[in-house]
Amino acid sequence: MTHQLIHQITVPTPYAVGDVHCYLYMGEKVTLFDAGVNTEEAWEAFQQQINAIGLEPSDIKQIVLTHHHPDHTGLIEHFDQLEAIYGHPLTDLWLKEDCEYFQHYLAFFDQLYDRFDVPHQFRKIDKTVENAFKYQGNGRLTDTILEGDVIPGLPSMTVIETPGHAQSHLSFYDRESGSLIAGDHLLKHISSNPILEAPLVGEEERPKSLINYRKAMKKMKDYNIQEVLPGHGETFHFNEKLIDHRLKRQEERAEHVFEYIKEHRATPYEVCQYLFPKHYEKQFGLTMSETIGQLDYLEAEGKIKSYTEEGVLKYSPCKTLSY
Ligand SMILES: [Zn+2]
Repeated sequence: MTHQLIHQITVPTPYAVGDVHCYLYMGEKVTLFDAGVNTEEAWEAFQQQINAIGLEPSDIKQIVLTHHHPDHTGLIEHFDQLEAIYGHPLTDLWLKEDCEYFQHYLAFFDQLYDRFDVPHQFRKIDKTVENAFKYQGNGRLTDTILEGDVIPGLPSMTVIETPGHAQSHLSFYDRESGSLIAGDHLLKHISSNPILEAPLVGEEERPKSLINYRKAMKKMKDYNIQEVLPGHGETFHFNEKLIDHRLKRQEERAEHVFEYIKEHRATPYEVCQYLFPKHYEKQFGLTMSETIGQLDYLEAEGKIKSYTEEGVLKYSPCKTLSY
């Protein structure tokens, strides 16, 4: 870490992604950005590392969360002098395990997977939600924050909404140092998965995660970002070329999907099998999220169209439909 104001704390997770970072910001109020995962191992590792810099858990006065995923909210219950926990309103629905929202969430995926023609053995969204509840933090937000808000006690730290990987995702830009606390929005070596989520109760359309992710990536160019402090992997120097490169790679992947659709009118499930023949069975949620992201993108670009046949969604190239 080059920035003396910010300490990186790294804890293990039970997930394939490996370790997750939290960041301690030694501002007017000692603030913790993200809170690891809810396991004993993570809490042990966390305590050891803050002790090593001369702090106790009770020195932490506020927590700010980048997004609702359990490897970022897990340890929020452990701080007895806490004055506030900030995050996106959607993060609070997860922490609260909001009944109405999750009934709607599961029903939404049931219907969606019917339309995507997904076989029943891959429909494990209830398990995914259960697993998130198991490892996420016990507690609630005290306040919600949105685009342009300044973190109380940290006057140079601004909130940037960066939905895509999660619709609740926020990043935090420190105007003075140029550091960006990026959560899972920007990682050094890979693009984050644009995870498929249900819309909010009362909203008709599901969020288009990949399209949102692209917008949020482009938005990074509006700030004078120097160092990126990500949720996983190494910290790195920000470069606009990284954004261009990521967007271009995604467009290339979309082109690959387009070539397939030109030859085959296909359901989302068929496209997913084609794109990820080795991985779709074991990592269905992630591979389907990536697939539907590319389909949304191609549809928004006017290259493909969707239509419904016997209750199942299919995609075809635009030109063929216009004959
Ligand atoms: Zn995440």
